[in-house]
Amino acid sequence: MSPTRDRRGFFKTMLASTAALGLAGKRASAAGPARPVDGHYDIIVCGGGPGGVCAAVAAARAGKKVLLIEQYGFLGGMATAGLVEPYMPYRTGEIVTNAGIFEEVCRRLSDSGAFGSELHASAFDTEVLKMVELDLCLAAGVEILFHSFVFRTTVRRKRITEVHVANKAGEMSFSAELFVDATGDGDLAFHAGADWELGREQDGLTQPSTLFFKMANVDLKKALKYVDSGKDDRSFKKLTEKARAAGEFTSPREDTLWFCTPRQGVIAFNTTRLVKFNATDPWDLTRMEIEGLKQVRDTGAFANKYLPGFGKAYISQVASNVGVRESRRVVGDYQITQDDLLSCRPFDDSVARGCYPIDIHSPTGGGTTIIHLEEGQSYAIPYRSLLVKGFDNLIMGCRAIWGTHEAHSAYRVQPIVMSIGHAAGVAAAMASSSGADYRRVSVPGLQERLRAQGAVV
Ligand SMILES: Cc1cc2nc3c(=O)[nH]c(=O)nc-3n(C[C@H](O)[C@H](O)[C@H](O)COP(=O)(O)OP(=O)(O)OC[C@H]3O[C@@H](n4cnc5c(N)ncnc54)[C@H](O)[C@@H]3O)c2cc1C
Repeated sequence: MSPTRDRRGFFKTMLASTAALGLAGKRASAAGPARPVDGHYDIIVCGGGPGGVCAAVAAARAGKKVLLIEQYGFLGGMATAGLVEPYMPYRTGEIVTNAGIFEEVCRRLSDSGAFGSELHASAFDTEVLKMVELDLCLAAGVEILFHSFVFRTTVRRKRITEVHVANKAGEMSFSAELFVDATGDGDLAFHAGADWELGREQDGLTQPSTLFFKMANVDLKKALKYVDSGKDDRSFKKLTEKARAAGEFTSPREDTLWFCTPRQGVIAFNTTRLVKFNATDPWDLTRMEIEGLKQVRDTGAFANKYLPGFGKAYISQVASNVGVRESRRVVGDYQITQDDLLSCRPFDDSVARGCYPIDIHSPTGGGTTIIHLEEGQSYAIPYRSLLVKGFDNLIMGCRAIWGTHEAHSAYRVQPIVMSIGHAAGVAAAMASSSGADYRRVSVPGLQERLRAQGAVV
């Protein structure tokens, strides 16, 4: 049987079994036909999103030979391909929870006049971010391979030895001592045969996805006049309900979530809502893009007709990729729970922190559950949740670390994921100098290096 048919067969089995087993799974590692290796590296980072960029930069700055593999022709992941902005909070009261490379990115965005807007201090220009992250990677000496999709691994004795990508050349293969999975969805771990979970415990449903879009030529003054007029309608909820009753608001979302960008008259909409899809199923992904674009068109028309200041606005940009809030969570050495986060449980092996609340957009339709921490409180992300059960040379440097559905809803936001990526990159550099085993990295040493690089642990 060819590897492709084999994978399709597996995928069907996975979907059937995930429905029955509460959506957890394991994929047998596929050892493909032997072919020459196209390059050898100390560290390979798969995925050039918020986590992957920070991991690659941190590892390369430590003098390691690093390859960053990305499916698109630009960096940034959901922040650029998904148009997801602004950065969610990275300070609580006077306490900063995320800094290090994340802070450098903010500073560079700010220096480029692409950070902060009238309403949102951490809004950023998604196109400028592409340049900022590319500059950081190139200056650190990261080698980048764009337009290459990771689809298979070679695994020997608990170690990934090679990663295989599909691209214009057909297939290419790269070997490394150490790997970082920064694909957001845990693709590398999945292809290596690691265990994973998907969705909430009771029915396996994930948070909905959202196709972001921007509207230009908005009369912001007029919009703000309405918002500030004491109608208590900051998210245009009343207008949304009115339009829904008239059949003119088709997203199941309860209101209109919009953000001011740094560009005059340009507003980003986090408003479409795609429920009950599995973002790791290519057919579901396709259905999400189709349904998402329909909701974009409808929301644009709704804005023109109902929202003050949006009468002459037009859709100026639609995300190239539907925004996936939740997919695989790869099983590691410790599963972070909601209680860990809300009780601010201290962890000796903390390598990143966060203050963002539990934030679950309803997996079934309207409604959003938000549980805040008290001001000044923050939680720890333990190193063990980045490790991958059964693998010595693989670490997670993205949102797919091991936590519950509820915990993931909090630490998934970009400042925290960038801090996780930073930690994964420094751990990779340290492991590269000490036996190429992530479990043999000195955690106090890792924390010390992270602190020295401005990160908060
Ligand atoms: C709709 C939505 C709204 C959000 N709102 C906010 C917000 O307002 N503020 C905030 O801070 N956070 C927000 N988030 C969360 C945040 O954007 C993501 O959780 C974050 O981007 C995750 O980063 P990551 O590096 O783990 O993964 P991603 O951003 O998904 O990056 C993964 C990268 O890997 C690449 N990749 C994936 N698979 C492969 C493969 N097989 N081969 C090669 N490359 C691959 C992708 O192209 C991508 O570049 C939101 C997310 C969504 C979806």
